[in-house]
Amino acid sequence: MKKLSIGMRLTLWYLAIFAVAQVIFGAGMWFLLHHHLYDLVNDSLESQVEDLKNFLEAQKKDATIAKLQEEVDETYTLEHSGDYLQLYADNDALIYRSTFLQVHPVPLAAPGKANRAIFKDLRIDGRHFRFRRQNLAANGHAYTATMGVPTEDVVETLDLFRSYLLMFAPLLFLVAAGGGYWLSRRALAPVDALVRTAREVSGANLNSRLQKLETGDELQRLSDTLNQMLDRIEQAFLRVTQFTADASHELRTPVSLIRTEAELALRRSRGEAEYLESLRHILLEAERTTVLIEQLLAMARTDSGRETLHMQPVNLTRTLGSVSEGWRQVATSRNLQFSVDLPVQDAFVMADEAALHRLIDILLDNAFKYTPAPGSVHFSFENKGEKAIMAVRDSGVGIAEEDQPKVFERFYRADKARSRDRGGAGLGLAIAQWIVSQHRGSIAVESRPGHGATFRVELPLIAAPVENPLPA
Ligand code: ADP
Repeated sequence: MKKLSIGMRLTLWYLAIFAVAQVIFGAGMWFLLHHHLYDLVNDSLESQVEDLKNFLEAQKKDATIAKLQEEVDETYTLEHSGDYLQLYADNDALIYRSTFLQVHPVPLAAPGKANRAIFKDLRIDGRHFRFRRQNLAANGHAYTATMGVPTEDVVETLDLFRSYLLMFAPLLFLVAAGGGYWLSRRALAPVDALVRTAREVSGANLNSRLQKLETGDELQRLSDTLNQMLDRIEQAFLRVTQFTADASHELRTPVSLIRTEAELALRRSRGEAEYLESLRHILLEAERTTVLIEQLLAMARTDSGRETLHMQPVNLTRTLGSVSEGWRQVATSRNLQFSVDLPVQDAFVMADEAALHRLIDILLDNAFKYTPAPGSVHFSFENKGEKAIMAVRDSGVGIAEEDQPKVFERFYRADKARSRDRGGAGLGLAIAQWIVSQHRGSIAVESRPGHGATFRVELPLIAAPVENPLPA
């Protein structure tokens, strides 16, 4: 089933509460009016009882029933207050009964011994009455008086009030429904506007933003948050498109070099030596392309969050020792001096050993790449407080000051011609920085152009792990 819109649900809730409130209010008012009007009727009956009592008190003490009948008859027949009166003396002797009650006897139970009044609402001959029957003691005699008051007006007023309520309630309900719906539409109109704009945002116009609301409420917070989200999405999108463009560009160069080399070799028949030379060039370019593709894949994996590192305690002294050993051969072949300075004692970091390996390889590879013979490369590591500080220092070409902050950016090459010549695509240091950040460390460069560069990496040290004793 399709869910109702918020506007519709708000309206329905509002109407439900309004209807309940309306019923409570109407019923409350009706009961109050009812109570008040019948209070007036009771007051009138009360004062009639008082009058009768005073009248009976005023009679002679030794008056006979006949005398009393005569007196009451004389007084009450003329008065309207006697229209619905009936009076009995002690021994059930009827003293007075108005003409109306003679025709319509009132079915009221006797009040019994107590002097508490009994009330009864009756409909006689199509008319409404309230009767009161009560025992009276006056002048040494006991009487039972029944007296009534027509309540036609009261009943009519209450009926009228009820019909007004029933007549206006639906009208009020309709007005409330319309008002409620209008209010909810008005309050939620900005949401519709947000939805409309959000629908129009696509990859092609990621720079468009939702209309800025100045309502200072939840909706403004919502639109601001969505806009911030769009900012982040746009940035990520731009990074991806930029990455794709740069990657394609980088890949095109070695592929076209390989192609040109092969085309030239095939243009005419050549001697074996020339073919071998061409094949060597092609192989070199193919190897560079492989490295580049691996770097691109690594970047793509880090971007997608799929590159997961397996952190565990690593003996840094030992790892750095073995990584640097692997570079000795390269140093000799390039005619460069290579010195390694590692502490004697073991030091541990929380790290992914393969990533750590890669980080050092990138830094040493750069140092050897950008240091012409006869130069030197120095690799050192020391513990300072809670940190392990590794440094790769070379005596090579160095990096201009304005380039230093940028060398960690993707595809950034400080010296384009020279870097390209040495096979770099400007991705090595970006990967190195990612690895360092994953290890909660930092990387920085210091350099004087023409006098070499020093790359420094800081990683947090951990306590030496407790070796598991071998089971006996
Ligand atoms: P590449 O693969 O081009 O070497 P990197 O990201 O490793 O890419 O380095 C980015 C740029 O920083 C390089 O192109 C180079 O210009 C500069 N660079 C890096 N290391 C050194 C260094 N040791 N000496 C001089 N320049 C360096």
